[in-house]
Amino acid sequence: MKAAVLEELGKMVVRDVEDPQTDDDSALLKVESVCVCGSDIRIFRHGNPRVKPPAIIGHETAGTVVEAGKNVSRVKLGDRVAVGADVPCGQCQWCRNGLGNNCQINYAMGYQISGSFAQYLKLPRLVLEEGPVTPFSEKLHPDVAALAEPLGCAINGLELVNLRLGQTIVLIGMGPIGCMMIDLARLMGAIRVICVQRSRQRMEIAKQYGADVYIASEEEDVVTRCREETGGQGPDVVITTCGSVEAHEQAVEMVAHRGYVNLFGGLGKNVRPMSVLSNTIHYKECFVTGSHGSVPRHHELAVKLLEQGLVRTEPIITHHFPLDKINEAFDTMENKRGMKIIVHPNA
Ligand SMILES: [Zn+2]
Ligand SMILES: [Zn+2]
Repeated sequence: MKAAVLEELGKMVVRDVEDPQTDDDSALLKVESVCVCGSDIRIFRHGNPRVKPPAIIGHETAGTVVEAGKNVSRVKLGDRVAVGADVPCGQCQWCRNGLGNNCQINYAMGYQISGSFAQYLKLPRLVLEEGPVTPFSEKLHPDVAALAEPLGCAINGLELVNLRLGQTIVLIGMGPIGCMMIDLARLMGAIRVICVQRSRQRMEIAKQYGADVYIASEEEDVVTRCREETGGQGPDVVITTCGSVEAHEQAVEMVAHRGYVNLFGGLGKNVRPMSVLSNTIHYKECFVTGSHGSVPRHHELAVKLLEQGLVRTEPIITHHFPLDKINEAFDTMENKRGMKIIVHPNA
């Protein structure tokens, strides 16, 4: 089959590789759509201890089952299936308690397990038994189904902030996650959704989601404006869907007493520590949480929400590339010219 192989840091080559070998306990997926994720770019540029080149990365996947071993019951031939990233080991205390994204081994598709920037993706036994493998209906296009992976992560983040009917939420960073969180926040009862974004281009896309307030962080003091928009008391919930330590600081600074912050977007290795007065948290009695990745339950829920059209994805799917043009796809992502970029390995 044809695959994009990460040969070494910064070098991705599309070439023929051996077809994945399946057995009685595994299945084979013909990959229709795989989205480029910010973490793919980080692996490509800076590496990751869980990825050993030469390797095939890619973890936001949708395709069709073309082989299923005789012991496989999770999927069957012809099923259209979305596959997420984090694969619980199933054995450790985190995995046994449904918190597999905190697993110490932290298996993931496109990391230790071969990924989907390839014509075919093997679903080995562990992935079929424990992993995020969710069939989807004819209603859903594979491009949209592939987005169940990032949407699952967004759901995980929102589950940690205790968002309730009638509350106000601030989302800092209008990338694909921030945009999908606008719809999720509405579903969960937010009556006021305030969006913060630096670049104009992303702001224009985010405006299609119809949030209540859009703040350009280049032009205004974000904390002051968010306080003003909430009658001086600050938002009930703030989520940072960007990779900026300043956003983390602003989030704690602006959140209401008893409010919740979720530091969703991860930061690079060499970023300075966040600087917040402990007394700010102390006197606000606020909750500062973090989140990363998701568990299979989130992936399944994400597919259902997408099937019902409750989270919209049309505005954020901006580019499509065949596998041969993967370097162009990565370049488009890296230069933030696109939002969600979809690679079609069998186009
Ligand atoms: Zn991802
Ligand atoms: Zn585990």
